[in-house]
Amino acid sequence: MEPRISDTLTSNVRLLKSKASRSAIYGTLVAVTAIALATMLVGRLQYGEFSLDFMLLAQQENPTLWLLDFMPFVFAFWGQYVSSMMAYEAGAMVVDQTNELRAQTNALEYEAIYGTTHDALTDLPNRALMRDRMAQALIVASHENTRLALLLMDLNEFKEVNDTLGHYNGDRLLKQVVTRLQAVIREPDSVARLGGDEFAILLPKIASPASAVAMARKVLRSLEVPFSIEGLALGVQASIGIALFPEHGNDVDALQQRADIAMYVAKSDKSGIVTYSQKLDQHSPQRLTLMGELRHAIGNNELVLHYQPKVDTKTDRVTEAEALVRWQHPTHGLMKPDDFIPLAERTGLIKPLTLWVLNESLRQCAGWNQNGFDVGVCVNLSASNLLDPEFSDIVAGMLAAHDLAPRRLVLEITESAIMTDPARALQMLIRLADIGMRLSIDDFGTGYSSLRYLSKLPVSEIKIDKSFVVDMTTNSNDAMIVRTTVDLGHNLGLKVVAEGVENEEILKRLVGFGCDSVQGNYISSPLPAADFPVWIKETRWAA
Ligand code: C2E
Ligand code: MG
Ligand code: MG
Repeated sequence: MEPRISDTLTSNVRLLKSKASRSAIYGTLVAVTAIALATMLVGRLQYGEFSLDFMLLAQQENPTLWLLDFMPFVFAFWGQYVSSMMAYEAGAMVVDQTNELRAQTNALEYEAIYGTTHDALTDLPNRALMRDRMAQALIVASHENTRLALLLMDLNEFKEVNDTLGHYNGDRLLKQVVTRLQAVIREPDSVARLGGDEFAILLPKIASPASAVAMARKVLRSLEVPFSIEGLALGVQASIGIALFPEHGNDVDALQQRADIAMYVAKSDKSGIVTYSQKLDQHSPQRLTLMGELRHAIGNNELVLHYQPKVDTKTDRVTEAEALVRWQHPTHGLMKPDDFIPLAERTGLIKPLTLWVLNESLRQCAGWNQNGFDVGVCVNLSASNLLDPEFSDIVAGMLAAHDLAPRRLVLEITESAIMTDPARALQMLIRLADIGMRLSIDDFGTGYSSLRYLSKLPVSEIKIDKSFVVDMTTNSNDAMIVRTTVDLGHNLGLKVVAEGVENEEILKRLVGFGCDSVQGNYISSPLPAADFPVWIKETRWAA
């Protein structure tokens, strides 16, 4: 393209040069007129008369006129020279500008193509380019009979980072994550950002399925060192789903969908890395639609609360009831929290869900109190509630709105929720405790947090996990753990609650250990909201 434009311009210049230019013609005409006038004047002055003969004579005898005769040539040459120079310079200018424009167009074109194939924030290939690369890699792999792996990775709880630290810091975290990924991924493997906190890693040629898992481990290990954002050390965990060619599919869509299912399972059961297998398929499509439905369920009043009483072993009286959420699903029936709470946590719906549970349970608790039942309510929290800086103010506002003393509310928090970000969780727990709410560590014994850390928390009780309690009459180890935990709690100045009390024998053993409160099916299984006031009126554990 380029030579053709400059050729056209050069030939234009040549054309201009081959024709007499206007300035050359004017210059020559002026010079010839000047010669004619000068010759006429000289002839008149020398010979006293205007005539052609005297003019010719004047020409022959005056060297000054000879000099003048030379002028038309000078003007013709000068005119022609100046205009060809101008034409040439104009041509050169046009060529320069054309080149510059072309360069700009190319840059814009490149930018446009780059923009459609790369992610603006991280500069990584985007979903479109990744699909393209996968398609190419699949052709090669099927020709050469080799194996290919697609790894889909999603960061856990990235939404909370965005919500609490702002999108600017969320973006900074993503960039740091990408730097780590790039450090572990080598040619010919490639990494792409599919959107949000989702990444794809393509391994176009692997020896065995184990190599894909090894790479996934390497990636997760690279994220283990906390990230530094705003002076905070942020721990980031991720879930990776793996799909293989030819085992799990032979086109881009099939592999992507299967890696996605595996990733989803890795996330919901917190297993970190999951390789696709057909049996994962059975639950996943249903789970994926649930995600969309849960959003509406919160606003549509499809959630209901059941209440399970908690009894003080000294007075044999109900002191509180734990609010346990259920989802009255239009087609699946009554769903248990384990089937949708992890989903809510993954999608960020846990925040509105918790606020709904809090508001509803405080409203009902206020109703019980008005009817003369002196009971409080326990509500379960998730990690993201503790990381939401507005949370304590919202709860304080709700308590005031329902005219309830903060001591009526017990917030149950698991060790793992606290350990998601111990420093910030501690800040939130201090605020909640300052307002006057009581805090309880739920599922105690199942986490890995250090006792030194736990002893610093402003909590008032620990709740021994039901997995130790249900078997304590048949398993001496469990009995020992429960007994030791009761002593440990007391030594730390905390009340100890046991959940999962299924029969009288367990209850008696717990009372013998000095356990302060009990909760479980022996006293009552969780009751629908409407049944709870009826139960409490008739039970021997009446408040
Ligand atoms: P959790 O807080 O440890 O709640 C106790 C669970 O043990 C309840 O299961 C309860 O029904 C069950 N349980 C009670 N008594 C017995 C018993 O004697 N034997 C046995 N084997 N189990 C008993 P549920 O209602 O399915 O809740 C499961 C978990 O879901 C809860 O565990 C809690 O972590 C979570 N959850 C429930 N509601 C909410 C909520 O509103 N928000 C959040 N974030 N989590 C919730
Ligand atoms: Mg609980
Ligand atoms: Mg529990």
